Amino acid sequence: LFDTDPPPWELETPEDTAIASVVFRDAPFGPYDYRIPEQFRDVLQPGMRVHVPLGRRKQPTTGWCIETKLGSSGGRNLSDVADVLDGEPLCDRPLVRLVTWMSHYYQSPAGQVFDALIPSSVRSQAGTRQRTYLSPAPITKDNAAVEALPPKQQRALRLLIASGRPMTESQLMVHADCTAAPIRALRKKGMVTENKQRELSSGMTTRWQVGDGEQVEKHTLTDEQTAALRQITGAVDSAEPRTLLLHGVTGSGKTEVYIQAIEHVVKFGRAAIVLVPEISLTPQTRGRFERRFQSVAVLHSQMTPAERHYQWQRIRRGEVQVVVGPRSAVFAPLPRLGLIILDEEHDGSFKQDSQPRYHARKVAYARARSLKIPLLLGSATPSLESWYATETGHAELISMPNRVGNRPMPDVQLVDLRLKDERSMGGSISRRLHQAVNETLHEKGQVILLLNRRGFATTIQCPACGHVVACPECELPLTHHRDGSKAVCHYCDYTIATPPWCPECRFDGIRYSGLGTQKLEVEVKARFPKARVARMDSDTMRRPGSHQKVLAAFRSGEIDLLLGTQMIAKGLDFPNVLLVGVINADAALHFPDFRAGERTFQLVTQVAGRTGRGSRGGRVIVQTFSPEHMAIQAASRHDYIQFAKAEIANRRKFNYPPLGSIARIIIRGSIEDVTEATACLLLQRLESARERLGAEVRLLGPAPPPIVKLRGKYRFHLLLQSIDPLQLGATIRMATKSFKIPEKDDVQYVVDIDPLDM
Ligand code: ADP
Ligand code: ZN
Repeated sequence: LFDTDPPPWELETPEDTAIASVVFRDAPFGPYDYRIPEQFRDVLQPGMRVHVPLGRRKQPTTGWCIETKLGSSGGRNLSDVADVLDGEPLCDRPLVRLVTWMSHYYQSPAGQVFDALIPSSVRSQAGTRQRTYLSPAPITKDNAAVEALPPKQQRALRLLIASGRPMTESQLMVHADCTAAPIRALRKKGMVTENKQRELSSGMTTRWQVGDGEQVEKHTLTDEQTAALRQITGAVDSAEPRTLLLHGVTGSGKTEVYIQAIEHVVKFGRAAIVLVPEISLTPQTRGRFERRFQSVAVLHSQMTPAERHYQWQRIRRGEVQVVVGPRSAVFAPLPRLGLIILDEEHDGSFKQDSQPRYHARKVAYARARSLKIPLLLGSATPSLESWYATETGHAELISMPNRVGNRPMPDVQLVDLRLKDERSMGGSISRRLHQAVNETLHEKGQVILLLNRRGFATTIQCPACGHVVACPECELPLTHHRDGSKAVCHYCDYTIATPPWCPECRFDGIRYSGLGTQKLEVEVKARFPKARVARMDSDTMRRPGSHQKVLAAFRSGEIDLLLGTQMIAKGLDFPNVLLVGVINADAALHFPDFRAGERTFQLVTQVAGRTGRGSRGGRVIVQTFSPEHMAIQAASRHDYIQFAKAEIANRRKFNYPPLGSIARIIIRGSIEDVTEATACLLLQRLESARERLGAEVRLLGPAPPPIVKLRGKYRFHLLLQSIDPLQLGATIRMATKSFKIPEKDDVQYVVDIDPLDM
């Protein structure tokens, strides 16, 4: 060590330059080096923003400093840092390292990653104001100078001196009971010095909206919970970056385990982050944490910028024990982080669908590893990524296979929609489901009806036999091309003419017809006129707080029947729900996405988990055209392990994740030909990069995505697959490094590493 490291004084030689490495939001490469002028040497630190000249731009550009070092300029003519914008770093060094890692892994400019990391309300200092503090100037030590002042000025100044602390003009006005004039005179005469400070404008406290009335007490843990907790606290104490997967069926009491694990972390003066799906951030969830810890910061989408800034500052000062929030809370700047938890870790909302397209689970993993703290993932239906990690020794499995209080799992019945006497005339509710709803309402139980729709993919499924027209190469459903005459595989672009009749049973009405929640609501109200019905989907839930209101009404029994989309499948814990109906399980099943089976299994299992939570039990009715499908069979038996085994075998055939890695490049443009041509050009680049690197990467496309034209733009996808994520990343990096598209073409592309919604 002594031989290779230069002694510290050598670094201080005058030839050495103080250098700042700076990254930007719209310059993909870098970092770029700048000289730090004398006046900023002791000020500038990594995690602060700077103004620097960039390229040929006339105005200075805002960038983020990620490193300061002493080094040789190496003969380069470095530009100077023009200004330092922050008084203190907006993130600490481990977070700066996280930014660098994310920028590399997700192939996103580091400046964009910083923007995701630091809330805009913090960057803009929302809810703060500049205040000027007055203190006595040194000259006031000279008593004669003070005595020479007119009486009002003298009085104000003496009070300021006597108070022994700086005051704002208005504070001093109140204190000295005078107008602003004498104080202004004091400033003019230089009898007071001024000191400007930025402060949060007031002590803000967040008021929660209507709670939904749940009582929260501390439970005595069941044996399963106790064992789970012991394994987690063991990991916390080991100070090793272990990953734990808590697989607990719906109603097994995972939240109580999280809370007691956090209590253990807090006991040693450390803090925890709990990430939850966006939609689960209900007053019920908040309440559970807020009532059990002294200082909880709940980050949610309805906060004002000022509130968000206030909470962020509290978190950063170490005043918070627990941060609860959606995916972006993974960046919460807790100084003594001891544990990160992802609840419902399989949930799609953990992936951001704009740049940087990160997945909170992956980021949490990276952050936990670098801090040497455990990561706890919890779910009743773990993602195959996490499950596979337990099989390969990258994560430890903790199982809670039973519900609290030994309540049985609800009975799940499948209704085969292909059978004529199951279907009912002209509606979407089968005879059996209709009867079950009637019975439940009669017993004064509550009902949840799920109608899942995803996007606008137009899968071609025969309504008579349930057959789905699929790609012979990828085994994925084909989708209607927008002109209706062709059916296309959006992975590999395999194309056929849309068949006029079903290739399987010859039924000649093979047509896609979608059903909306609105239509379902009309049907439900007509069938059950006495029931009090509420609908929950993204249309009815637009107004802030409406979600909570409906849930509160449902809890208090003012609503008998709740119908809606995926939104209602998650996390709700209402003991009086005696029936759950799934209107069409196939809507998620025949989506052209290799994760369609996984999604369907999750959805059916999660929504089934909303019932049977009270002493009165519960049952589930799932309507489907594909009752023999493995995902639906396994879900009806609550058998995750069987599902995971079969699904991993499926994925292995094509090296789909978690067995391999995939990336997607989306190319968007306003002119179809030009967009497609650009996609082809990029494909060539990828092919030659693959060759030069000798990388084993499979390239697919360009193919139209299931939603072809979005917001007036044509889109094409390129898909990359590899066993090795490093080879995949390197190939894309090399291919895109100097790939420039002429401005007149009006084509943009984005790289999506580990895409989730195909
Ligand atoms: P999960 O998140 O695993 O679906 P929850 O954490 O929502 O399960 O717990 C289900 C219900 O069981 C909740 O109402 C919770 O308050 C209750 N519960 C949890 N642990 C216990 C326990 N040890 N004893 C009694 N009730 C419990
Ligand atoms: Zn195909």
